[in-house]
Amino acid sequence: MEHANTKEVILVVDDDKILSEHLKAGLLDEAYTVVSANKGSTAIDLAKKQQFNLAILDLVLPDIQGIELMRALNRISPQTNFIILTGYATISSAIEALKVGAYDYIIKPFDFDHLKLVIKRSLEKQHLAARNVELIERLEKEKVKLEIIMDAYKRIGEIFDLEDLADFVTDQAVSIAEAERASLMMIDESTQELVIKGFKGTDQKKMGLRIKIGELVAGWVAREGEALVVRDIDSDPRLRKHLRTGQYRTKSFISLPLKVDNHVIGVMNVTDKLAQMSVFTDEDLRDLSLLAHQTVTQIENIRLCEKLASMAVTDALTGLFNHRYFQEELNLEILRAQRYKHPLSLIMFDIDGFKSYNDHYGHLEGDRVLKQVAAIIRQNVRQVDIICRYGGDEIVVLLPVTNIRGTKVVAGKIRGSVAEIDPPNEETNKIIRVTISGGISTFQEKMSKEELIGAADRALYQAKQEGRNRIIVND
Ligand code: GH3
Ligand code: MG
Repeated sequence: MEHANTKEVILVVDDDKILSEHLKAGLLDEAYTVVSANKGSTAIDLAKKQQFNLAILDLVLPDIQGIELMRALNRISPQTNFIILTGYATISSAIEALKVGAYDYIIKPFDFDHLKLVIKRSLEKQHLAARNVELIERLEKEKVKLEIIMDAYKRIGEIFDLEDLADFVTDQAVSIAEAERASLMMIDESTQELVIKGFKGTDQKKMGLRIKIGELVAGWVAREGEALVVRDIDSDPRLRKHLRTGQYRTKSFISLPLKVDNHVIGVMNVTDKLAQMSVFTDEDLRDLSLLAHQTVTQIENIRLCEKLASMAVTDALTGLFNHRYFQEELNLEILRAQRYKHPLSLIMFDIDGFKSYNDHYGHLEGDRVLKQVAAIIRQNVRQVDIICRYGGDEIVVLLPVTNIRGTKVVAGKIRGSVAEIDPPNEETNKIIRVTISGGISTFQEKMSKEELIGAADRALYQAKQEGRNRIIVND
């Protein structure tokens, strides 16, 4: 006997032996598997042992009403379809059977072609129903995945650290693709290598691991810019040269490029599907591609922010130029001073005892004072002078076309104004006033940038040594 899975199995229940045999022979010709019973109890026993796609029941049986039998069989196997055989005498029972779920009834004597048609339709309907259940299950699963992806989309946009992003994305990748391991690699353009930035379920030692573009599977994907869904690594002709065997539990994996336009910037790898024997599918690739797309967008955002930060020329707290800008401007001003032979002076200010001021009044009050000092300096210098926050409480002023005498005047005015800043209201004996010290240097022929800064720094140090709240000139 052929295996039941390859054929649809029909149960014929009729006590009319001749009709039963006739039916059986006819249906066997149609390539169905047919089992027959001549009474209800036999049919029930058979149904307990074997699953039937369809039961053709005579309404009048020696031991049980056809409709009762139908109910009993339905309890044993809810998927089974029913076709009722009836004479005119029992037609109202047949209609009753439709109400409790029979597919159709056939009136005896019947036309065999008609019966075949009814059988075919009923089985088709059964297939559709089964397929529907499958589809609904798949849709439910898809919905859950889509929710994970949507959630990941939102959260990815909030991560502004590349390693945190890689960590989060690999975490999402394993849950979306139902896998054990994932890693995210970024291309280091300077060495043309892939560097692991984040992983999930992989050996800790692999963090920071580098592979050459073109080498191994990830390197292949990086070079070709093409995603790979590999069902069985051993039989994939594309990968013969790229194998490193024995490192994965299963032979199926997905590797996809992270691309900006057509340029590959990294690779996402997902390996070891959780379910035993199971392989990655094109749906997994589609879902992971969505994740990869959003990851790329965010990597671009992070890079843009880093670039903007590196391009920034001002300090956020004081609004003064920052250290980097100071260094650049100093180069230019030295060139100008050399070329046009005009003086160039530098003042380096530092707030006196600012640490204790912070400790006493709190950091916020310290910030307020820092801003106030910056404002005072701004009010006392010319438009062409360049004021920069050099470090914590150090502020430098670059004064082109200004000699030492002029610079001393400016620095002195600033020192005086700062000393007049009103400290927060408090008992007189506890008050800490704000003062600043300053060191001045001026550009001499053939001096380097470092020498000019060093000279001002030494003068400032001397001012501190001599008791603070004073300006010292290094000449
Ligand atoms: P000195 O007279 O020798 O300069 O003493 P000092 O306490 O000012 O010592 P120093 O210049 O070495 O220390 C600078 C202090 O400035 C350290 C830190 O508490 C404070 N500081 C640096 N940046 C900021 C800032 O942005 N806001 C505030 N409130 N304080 C800062
Ligand atoms: Mg200080």
